[in-house]
Amino acid sequence: MTLHKIFFILLSGLYVSSAYPANFSITPVKDNLYQFSNGTHHAVFVVTDEGIALTDPISEAAAKWLKGELKSRFDVPVRYVIYSHNHPDHVYGGEVFAEPGVSFIAHQWARDDLLATQADTEIPELVFNDEMRIFLGDTQIDLRYHGPNNGKGSISINFPQQRVLHVVDWIVLGRMPYKTLPGYDIRGMINSTRDVLAMDFDILVGGHADTGNKDDVRFYLSYLEQLYEAVLDGMRKGKSLQQLQQEIRLDEFESLKMYEEWLPLNIQGVYNDLIDQSYLHLRQE
Ligand SMILES: [Zn+2]
Repeated sequence: MTLHKIFFILLSGLYVSSAYPANFSITPVKDNLYQFSNGTHHAVFVVTDEGIALTDPISEAAAKWLKGELKSRFDVPVRYVIYSHNHPDHVYGGEVFAEPGVSFIAHQWARDDLLATQADTEIPELVFNDEMRIFLGDTQIDLRYHGPNNGKGSISINFPQQRVLHVVDWIVLGRMPYKTLPGYDIRGMINSTRDVLAMDFDILVGGHADTGNKDDVRFYLSYLEQLYEAVLDGMRKGKSLQQLQQEIRLDEFESLKMYEEWLPLNIQGVYNDLIDQSYLHLRQE
């Protein structure tokens, strides 16, 4: 490598780190709908004549970057910020968009949790329990609660005209569910995902990992169902966690990223959830 080339790489590295964080991105999804990402966490927004509606701000740094990009690319005001659920790694940074004319929306239980934990983000003033429909310009947005699955008040965000659905945390495409499934209600995840599959959409943008279609969501649901059945079946037979981790293989799903690394952890997550929710360890055989 020539000295010149090394110097160029150094310079371009400096440019990337000082000018803008390389991980932040905006990607077109469909028509006036875009994905916003910090690399690991994804949100979406729609741009209309009457302004922008966006979902999770992700973090203060991500929100500041997004605010600048929205201004320079579209130059219409942000009108709605919709929180997908209560977790700080998705909804922090809301204050960056808090100004007159901007409405913050969340499920009632997400708001309750943000208040109770004194979360350092904008607290939503518009809440709902089952469903809420928003119109902005010519764009319709449907928010729906599907029951408990992960976190508090975790909803789906549907854009019926674009046939795009956004779900954060409880549907993950192209990758295994996260490690030991912290805070997950496995049966709730299965029920909520079945509910989503009855909806009309072509594209699902996840809050993590990949964007996919309805077949990808079916594949994910099938993984959850088989994981749950395998662990439950083993526990009914009195097997230990270590035995389950040694015996259960779901190789039909080995194309999912982190399959080998996280399968034992996913098994542990379901095992612990069945103890927490169903007290299976207290059954008298
Ligand atoms: Zn998440």
